[in-house]
Amino acid sequence: MCGKLDYYLQLFSALRTDRNRNRWSAETCFQAPHKPFLLLSILDAIASSAITKNFIEPSFELAETFAGYWSLVMPLGTSGSMSYPFYHLESSGFWHLVSQPGNPHERGRTIGSVKLLRKYYLGARFDDDLFPLLVMETSRERLRSALIETYFPPAVRPVVSEQAVINRSAVTYEHELLTTAEQKPHYDTVFDQKPDIDKKVRDQGFRKAIVKLYEHRCALCGIRMLTPEGHTIVEAAHIVPWNESHDDKPQNGLALCRLCHWSFDKGLMGVGQEYEVLISSAVRQDNNFPGHMETLSGRGIFKPCSSNYWPGQDRLDVHRKKIFRKT
Ligand SMILES: [Zn+2]
Repeated sequence: MCGKLDYYLQLFSALRTDRNRNRWSAETCFQAPHKPFLLLSILDAIASSAITKNFIEPSFELAETFAGYWSLVMPLGTSGSMSYPFYHLESSGFWHLVSQPGNPHERGRTIGSVKLLRKYYLGARFDDDLFPLLVMETSRERLRSALIETYFPPAVRPVVSEQAVINRSAVTYEHELLTTAEQKPHYDTVFDQKPDIDKKVRDQGFRKAIVKLYEHRCALCGIRMLTPEGHTIVEAAHIVPWNESHDDKPQNGLALCRLCHWSFDKGLMGVGQEYEVLISSAVRQDNNFPGHMETLSGRGIFKPCSSNYWPGQDRLDVHRKKIFRKT
C-alpha cells in the first residue's frame, strides 16, 4: 500500500499544468490551478461521503465546490471552468473518462462549460488502486497535502486547507438540516446546541439544502436559471432573519431570486396563510414601476416536494407581522 501511495503522491505533485507566467501569478506558484482545485473538490466530496464510489460525475455541486476554491484564491472577477481540468486530467494517467453513450466527443476539441462536459461525458474513474487511497483518511490527507504544498505558496496554503474543512462540514450540516427536518419536524432547538458552527459552514450548508429543496427555482416568482457552469440565480433566504432566529431549518428558508430576495427582506413581498404571494401596496407608490411583480399577487408559491420542508406558517407569520409592509 505504501509503495502505491508514494507512486500517486508523485503523480499528484507532477500534474501537467499551464505555466505561462503572464497568465498565472505567485498565488498559484505561476501555474494554472484548475487541476489542483478539481482534485481538492473531489477529495472534499469523498471526505463528506458525497462521493462513495469510484465514479466521479461532473455534477453542478462539484462545480460549485471548484468555483468556491477559485474565488478564494484567484483575483476578483476571474473565473475558471471545471470542464477544463475534468477533461484534461486524463493526461495524468490515473483519471479515465467515461463517454456518454451515443454522444461521441471529438478528442482535443475544447469543452468550454460544465453543461457541455455533461453532454459528452458521464464522468470519470480513478485508477482502481488509487480510489481506496482517497477513501482512507490518512492517505487522502497526505495526497491533499501534496496538492496544497506543490501548487500553492506558504501564504496561501492555510486558506486552502481551511476551505477544505468548511466544505466537508457544510455538507455534514446540510445533511443534518435535511434529515432532522424529515424525522423531527417540530424539533426547533437542535441547532442551537452548536453555537461553535462557523458562519461559513452554516451559510454554505443552509444554501446547499435550500437550493436543492427548491430545485434552483425562486419560490415567489418561479424563475429558474442556471449558467452553463451551473451557477444558479437563486439564493437561500431566511424568513425570520438569522440574527433574530438562529434558525437554519428548511422551514425558515426560501429559495429566492435576487429581486424577490431583496423585495422579501424589504417587506415588499410576503407569503400568505394559504402560501400565496403577497405584494405590498408600497410597491405601487411614488415612482415605482414594479413590472411583472404585481402579476404575482395571489399566485401560489413554489414549495419543496415534501411538506416536511415547506416554509413554516409560524415563521411566515413573524415575517408578515414584523417585516411585510402594509402601506
Ligand atoms: Zn423571484
